[in-house]
Order: sequence, then structure tokens, then C-alpha cells
Amino acid sequence: MKYIGVIDCNNFFVSCERLFRPDLVGKPVIVLSSNDGCVVARSKEIKDMGIPMGVPAFQLKDMIKNVDVEVFSSHLSLYRDISRRVFSVVKDILPIVEQYSIDEAFFSIESDSLSSLQERCVLMSSQVERAVGIPVSIGVSLTKTQAKYANRLAKKAGKPVILDESWWQENVGTVQLRDIWGVGGQLLSSYREASINTTLDLYQCPKPRLDKLFGIAGLRLQAELSGQMMYPVSVVKTPQKSVTSTRSFKDTTNDMSVLKDAVAHHIRETTLELREQHLTTSKLQVLLQTSRYGDYALRGGVIEVDLLVPTDDTAVLMIEAMRLVERFFEPKVPYKKAGVVLGQLLPTEQVQQSLFPQIISDNNKLNTTIDEINNRFGRGRIQLGKHSLVSAWQSKHDNLSPCYTTRWTDVAVVHAC
Ligand SMILES: [Mg+2]
Repeated sequence: MKYIGVIDCNNFFVSCERLFRPDLVGKPVIVLSSNDGCVVARSKEIKDMGIPMGVPAFQLKDMIKNVDVEVFSSHLSLYRDISRRVFSVVKDILPIVEQYSIDEAFFSIESDSLSSLQERCVLMSSQVERAVGIPVSIGVSLTKTQAKYANRLAKKAGKPVILDESWWQENVGTVQLRDIWGVGGQLLSSYREASINTTLDLYQCPKPRLDKLFGIAGLRLQAELSGQMMYPVSVVKTPQKSVTSTRSFKDTTNDMSVLKDAVAHHIRETTLELREQHLTTSKLQVLLQTSRYGDYALRGGVIEVDLLVPTDDTAVLMIEAMRLVERFFEPKVPYKKAGVVLGQLLPTEQVQQSLFPQIISDNNKLNTTIDEINNRFGRGRIQLGKHSLVSAWQSKHDNLSPCYTTRWTDVAVVHAC
């Protein structure tokens, strides 16, 4: 029998922080969004205190007054690295794994008995926990939508949960639609208006009525919830369309050199990603944005340039980006955010030889050398372009944890006594 499962890291960002701070296991931990804006991850202790997701950071102070809470800034490069490790363990165990988000993946699994399936799931979660140290929840059922519900139950149960066909037949009336993957907000109210409150109501809704009210999406949801697979687990990677790096400033700025410094940083970040993914770009976009409120809300925006030859070269894109900043910059306008988007991506090996070979830069060796040095000695150790005004634009992340896995100087030290 074929099943679909979901493996999901528990309180992922919090678990990543605890990995290097085992003293925080069992203690209340919060991770804030970029720019330390609001709560994006909570440990179980915080959830039990009734602090919801998305609480603005400034409101937290009152809510956690008398409790010793550890608060972290988002450390995405660390979380991405840990995520890669978790799912490489899963991919070693199972052949068909579709990573769905930074902390979650669907997988296909075949089994003739529920008990052996349960055993394999328990083994997989302990293998991930032993190899990487991140606790995971596993839910298995017949479709992706059903598996997401099983995962929900697994989180509560603290062990893998498998929901087979007979479970759904017996319990369908107790499953609330609001607990179903993708059903929420406006969609949930529309279902309620149509008197569809439970999965049973949805099962029993005649297809023509469902089609009329909710179209193909409603029919697919009904099918998925009755165990007919509409969304198979797919291992085909959809080709990446663009590479982006943007960040809001701590304060607004109208200093061109500060903007150039920020854009140069985003060029270094995006071109490194291009080279890591073996891609080139032929469209460069630079974003200079003002605050969405106030007199300058309509100023700023995006300016772009098409490149004659696709490239992954930091120096070439840096020069173009600086030109765009100079052309676009308006004195006196308070800018709030800068960024870079690289589009029209093409795999490096598909880049055609240019008709104008003299304009192809020969910085390959330079880029590779810089990447190698930074890989070895820590990201940003050496870099192209000047990098002196960072404190003038870099956003707030006051409580950032060390770069445990990507910077040699931050690697944990073990003392033997
Ligand atoms: Mg999760």
C-alpha cells in the first residue's frame, strides 16, 4: 500500500538555537523576524504561556515581564544550513522526498502493514534526531492533505501518527475544516456560509454544488480528503526564476554612499548564490524603496538593466548596480530599503558563447578564489567592493546567535577537564 507522509521539524528556529545552547532545552525561547519586528518562532513553553505568533517585539516586554525568556534574532543562514542537514538524512533513508519549506518535506512510502510503517517512522525520527539533533514530527496518510492532518495529531501525540482509510471513515465527522491544510481565513468563512463545517460535510457535498461554489479547488480538496491523491509527491525541482536579497534599514537614509554600500552587499550575496547553484543572470534589478507611508511613499522603486551576456560575475554586476543607483538616486528622498533581484537565470553550462568575446569578463578565477577563501575562513572575510558603511544601513538584529556552522571563529569550543 502506498502512503504519503510529512516530516516537520518541531519549533524549527527555536530547535536550531537550542542545538548549540543545550542549556535552553526546556526553557522559554522566542525567535524574532528579520529586523527584530515580531515573534516568528516559539518554544513549547512560550506557546503554553499563550503568546501567539506575530506578536510585535515591543509588546513582548510586558507579556514576559517576570519570566526569564531567551530572545533571538532570526539567523536564517544557520537555519538553512541545519535544514539542509535534516533533509539530507531523510533523503538517505527514502528515495522520494519533496522539500516543501525550510522545515518540512513530503515523502512517499510503501508498506504492507501499519505496524511496520509505524516502526519505520519512529526509526526515521530518531535517526534525524541522532544525526542532526533536531526533533521532528511525522504524520502519514493517503494524500498530502490527509498527511498534513496526521502531522498535526503527531505533534500533539509526541510520536508518529498514521491515519489509514478506516480511520478517516470512522472519524471524518470530528475533523474540523479549519484544521485542514490550506483552509483558513476567507476560504473558511466561505465554506461556513455554505454550511460546510466538518470534513464529513465536505465529503457529503454533491460534486456539482461544490464545483459551483468553489470550482476545481473545492473538488480537489474533497478528493484529497477522501483519500484520492490529487497532488503527488514530486521530486522534480521547478527551475529557480530569480535570486533575491533585500533588507530594510534601521533608519531611513538619503546618503548615496550608504545606499551603494547596501546594494554592493546584496550583489555579493546574490552572486554567491548564483555560483553555488551554477546559474547565470541576464537581468539585474536594483530596488531602492521609501517608506510605504508618508510624503515619499510613491518615490523610489525598481530599476533594471538587461545584460548582453549572461554572467555570474560579482564585479560585472557590481559595476552595473552602482550605475543604476547613481541614475535612480534622488537627493532628499528618505530611502528605507534596498535590494537586488537577479532574473532570467540560465544554467552556467547553457550560456552560449558571445558574439563579442572581448566583453566577457575573465573574473572566474577571482570569484572562485574569493568564494573558496570565504568558505574556509568564514563568510564575508574578503569581499569585492567597499564595505565600510554597514552600520549605517544594516537592520536590527541585536540578539543574533553566533554563526555556529558557517564561520570558523564561531564554531563551538569543547573544553575537556
Ligand atoms: Mg515546523
